[in-house]
Amino acid sequence: MAKKMKAAVLHAIGDLRVEEVDRPSITAPDQALVKIRAVGVCGSDVHFYERGRIGPYVVKDPVILGHESAGEVVEVGKAVANLRPGDKVAIEPGVPDRTCWYCKTGRYNLCAAVPFMGTPPWNGAFCEYVAWPADFCFKLPEGLSFEQGAMTEPLAVGMQGTKRGGVGVGHSVVVLGCGPIGLVTLQAAKARGATQIIATDVQQSRLELAAKLGATDIINAKDVDPVERVRELSDGGVDVALETAGTVATTQQACAMVRMGGVVTLIGMPAELDFELPVLDIICREYDVRGVFRYCNCYPPALALLGARKVDVNSLITHRFPLDEAKAAVDFAKDRKDVAIKVMVEVG
Ligand SMILES: [Zn+2]
Repeated sequence: MAKKMKAAVLHAIGDLRVEEVDRPSITAPDQALVKIRAVGVCGSDVHFYERGRIGPYVVKDPVILGHESAGEVVEVGKAVANLRPGDKVAIEPGVPDRTCWYCKTGRYNLCAAVPFMGTPPWNGAFCEYVAWPADFCFKLPEGLSFEQGAMTEPLAVGMQGTKRGGVGVGHSVVVLGCGPIGLVTLQAAKARGATQIIATDVQQSRLELAAKLGATDIINAKDVDPVERVRELSDGGVDVALETAGTVATTQQACAMVRMGGVVTLIGMPAELDFELPVLDIICREYDVRGVFRYCNCYPPALALLGARKVDVNSLITHRFPLDEAKAAVDFAKDRKDVAIKVMVEVG
């Protein structure tokens, strides 16, 4: 009989239960079995819990959510050379096929065949054990906590967004939205050499945290016109506008905030499938509008920044719940956006 473990299983909208399920075991020689220790609650977990779907991904059968995870290796397959039992690792939650044109050309995040943790029908990490390809488990630098390891996932999004934006030394940037992704994106921009980092949001407490984490200017869009203010601060427009709020208004603002020839990157996922962008403005001012989908080769640099203490993710972790209270954790992330930035599930 298979060994059992605890897992937080989403059965239907709002129906998240902690129950006993079969414990996974290594099924291929390149896998590691990881004892999960910390998992962040992401907006997408909340979305599946609230709505039962994200685009084409629909909760039909019970699924374990969670994809921002770190843990300890307890067993490795015969072909694994990079890990051994006892290693602490961050787990990259999407594993591409490694063989298609996108994988071969270095854009594996666009691979069509990516099973992604906590995205139906694939199980995630709100549980005690995960069996995962060892080349998508990354050793934590010395002294990092499991929580910091779990935060590698959102940080990887910030790394990808700033890479796609071409953020470099001496650049001016604006980060729209100071949720978890905005706060790691602004730190990624700083690490890449941006010197003017403007942050916008409508929540003052988040803006103050942004300032603590490296924003040089903060703008509360409730009080002033953020476009006008960014243009003033940046002498007509920033080099790169990084949109993380995922709203129609902030996406349009991002376009208006960028300088001629600059770059707008769209990182936040809008609820609306389609909406208007200022096409004539894009043409005449020759700025690029670029999508950002997850990340590609971003775990190693993200972990290096964490290891060098160049990025602070601990300040983003505002609340902690044990795995037994996973439902309360997701409810809290859903209902208390006024105080919650990153809610962490601790797995004993
Ligand atoms: Zn592929």
